[in-house]
Amino acid sequence: MEKFDYIIVGAGCSGLSLAYEMNAKNLFNDKTCAIIDKRKEFNRDKIWSYWNIYEHSFYDCLINKWDKFCVKKTQNEIILDCENFQYQSIDSQKFYKKILDNLNSNKNIKLILNKSVDKIYENKDEAIVQCGDEIFRSDIIFNSSLDNRTTKESELFQHFYGCEIVFDENVNLPEYPIIMDFNCSQDNWVHFFYTLPMGKNKIFIENTWISNTKNFTFERYIAEINYYIQNNLNYKKKYKTNYSEIGSIPMFHFKNNVKYKKLINIGTAGNLTRKSTGYTFLNIQKSVKQIAINISKKQNIKETSVSLKYNYLDNIFIKVLFEKKGSMYEVFFDLFKKNKTKDIVKFLSNTSNWFEDLKIILSMPKLIFIKKLLNL
Ligand SMILES: Cc1cc2nc3c(=O)[nH]c(=O)nc-3n(C[C@H](O)[C@H](O)[C@H](O)COP(=O)(O)OP(=O)(O)OC[C@H]3O[C@@H](n4cnc5c(N)ncnc54)[C@H](O)[C@@H]3O)c2cc1C
Repeated sequence: MEKFDYIIVGAGCSGLSLAYEMNAKNLFNDKTCAIIDKRKEFNRDKIWSYWNIYEHSFYDCLINKWDKFCVKKTQNEIILDCENFQYQSIDSQKFYKKILDNLNSNKNIKLILNKSVDKIYENKDEAIVQCGDEIFRSDIIFNSSLDNRTTKESELFQHFYGCEIVFDENVNLPEYPIIMDFNCSQDNWVHFFYTLPMGKNKIFIENTWISNTKNFTFERYIAEINYYIQNNLNYKKKYKTNYSEIGSIPMFHFKNNVKYKKLINIGTAGNLTRKSTGYTFLNIQKSVKQIAINISKKQNIKETSVSLKYNYLDNIFIKVLFEKKGSMYEVFFDLFKKNKTKDIVKFLSNTSNWFEDLKIILSMPKLIFIKKLLNL
């Protein structure tokens, strides 16, 4: 029964970011911390992208950054200028390496891999993590595992398969990220391709669906990517796949944990995902910095979820999505077409003011939004 001052469940984006920020504030100089993860190793498994609207600690882990991005629908293309808040992408492998190198130098931090957490609970004196027959005790537990989490909301997922592709021959690739290319079948849900240029003849292509299933078959994602390469990029020859990732981001939030005071959910488990878009990375960075500040000032540690305002607006957006389904792409497209880039990016990055929010709301199809607003 090992006892630590802190336990972090999950050595993913939020768990490692939190450990890094706490270590940077010397919070493990005289306190111990265990980071427990079921994974056996750290491989490149994600590309985290965001508009650079909030400072974080991982700029040396960037793989690329851009001053423009695009949105596409049938014959229409909008190119948006984001010079003042670049679209940037972080390579998870660089991110894991940077953090693990940093944490390794502190003997008070123990990384426990290949250990699946079955249960987290607390009693009067301490919080407890149970992994099979093994028990770990702590004063406080930060949890980023989604296991055993429940929701009261309708389950909707942004699920995708993405791969970095290298073409053997010259091909006319887009110059900027296309964050949504709706030139594909919608199949009565929302479907788009997301592409990031990665160099000469190299591109990251993600086949993304928003639907009520957690994922589709691997074969389906691949077949649709092949179709996109042949028909949308007009490349009919062989290509190599360098790297691939698969994911499913919940577009709903989990029930809050009122029962436990020593358990703080972080990351996606801490409801830091924007339900309307799936963007989470920057919210995580902001939240873990705040937690580290609070601990260093000996203040209460609170879960910092997406604010009530964005949650409220996202809930309406999700209701509209459930109603419009196959034609929802028009709403997404209009959002980018009818608004200034600054306003959209601030809205999507949780930094807009009420006036900017209002402009965004007014660019949406009014009747259906008012109906959903009034719960009709
Ligand atoms: C492939 C992918 C790409 C994404 N891209 C973006 C993006 O571009 N921009 C953006 O803003 N957001 C993105 N997201 C959403 C979000 O930023 C990421 O999911 C992010 O990794 C969330 O961090 P997290 O710490 O909550 O979860 P994770 O990073 O998934 O970490 C959770 C960790 O907990 C471990 N774990 C889970 N259950 C247990 C258990 N029972 N016992 C022990 N360990 C456990 C897992 O192994 C994992 O290491 C993406 C998500 C995915 C899946």
